[in-house]
Amino acid sequence: MNAAATTQHTNCLRCGRKLTSIKSTATGYGPTCTRKVKAAAATHTASFKPALVAKAQELIEQGGIVPLRALRIFTVISSDGASTYKTAPQACTCPAGLKGRFVCYHRIAAHIVAAA
Ligand SMILES: [Zn+2]
Ligand SMILES: [Zn+2]
Repeated sequence: MNAAATTQHTNCLRCGRKLTSIKSTATGYGPTCTRKVKAAAATHTASFKPALVAKAQELIEQGGIVPLRALRIFTVISSDGASTYKTAPQACTCPAGLKGRFVCYHRIAAHIVAAA
């Protein structure tokens, strides 16, 4: 077992149902929620930069964004895996988010999961 292996999820991050497939335990979303998240990513992200939306989707697929409270506040893992930030669709505690100059991909990921 690789010590650097990604977290295995036992329950869906979105609806809390038990996850059974290997793919689901890796991403943290069951098949239904994966479909909903994909649909939300396709329909709710028109106002964001496509490159950031792609990074946001990657973050979601890696289970790198975890709902803390009622799909309104999330914990996200930084791209180097060294830090975690608190993210909501309106704000993020990452360096880019605190500067507030643009919408970071964490916020876009929060936006997608909240809209799914
Ligand atoms: Zn689910
Ligand atoms: Zn951020």
